Amino acid sequence: MAGKNAKLGKVLYTQEDITRRAKEICKQIDKDYEGEEVLLLGTLKGSIMWMVDIMKYLTVDTSIDFITASSYGSSSFSSGVVKITYEPNVNMYNKNVIIIEDIVDTGNTLKYLIEKLEGRGPKSIKVCSMLNKEARRKTDFKADYVGFEIDDLFVVGYGLDFDQKYRDLPYISYLDAEDVEKL
Ligand code: 5GP
Repeated sequence: MAGKNAKLGKVLYTQEDITRRAKEICKQIDKDYEGEEVLLLGTLKGSIMWMVDIMKYLTVDTSIDFITASSYGSSSFSSGVVKITYEPNVNMYNKNVIIIEDIVDTGNTLKYLIEKLEGRGPKSIKVCSMLNKEARRKTDFKADYVGFEIDDLFVVGYGLDFDQKYRDLPYISYLDAEDVEKL
């Protein structure tokens, strides 16, 4: 099956790099939301490791939940069609929501997600994404907090998958374009 023997590129960001960046971002979020409460809404499954980092280093009061939206099938290329396949039953009315995302690529997913969540009357919605791949953007979407800007590579690890694999890597790497194209 494609992906199984795909070759990993070099390590782009180590656990130490990611932890350092998460701490910096958390300082900024703490400042921006001083005295307020925040609902961290992690996007499953890709954001899990980044979500844990952000949760750990924030000092403002937080609660957490998860949502699943997907624009990708098992393929690595966006279909452009976004679907919410799991939505939490939590009250978002008048809450400060921060969506915790793994990567912003075309921007389709987050644009759709934010439009949907606006309907639940939150006080504010911001996005904290571990990675930003500006080169492939197809919308005017911009994340409020970004861990790292990356080139147009298909990244895996630290929650990010290729056909459900590689999520467990404790660092961020990428796959050879040839291997990704085989799908
Ligand atoms: P968008 O809607 O911004 O195009 O896509 C966002 C989603 O596509 C991300 O949450 C992620 O699941 C997936 N995605 C986009 N680029 C990559 C990538 O380089 N590697 C992996 N593993 N997933 C990606």
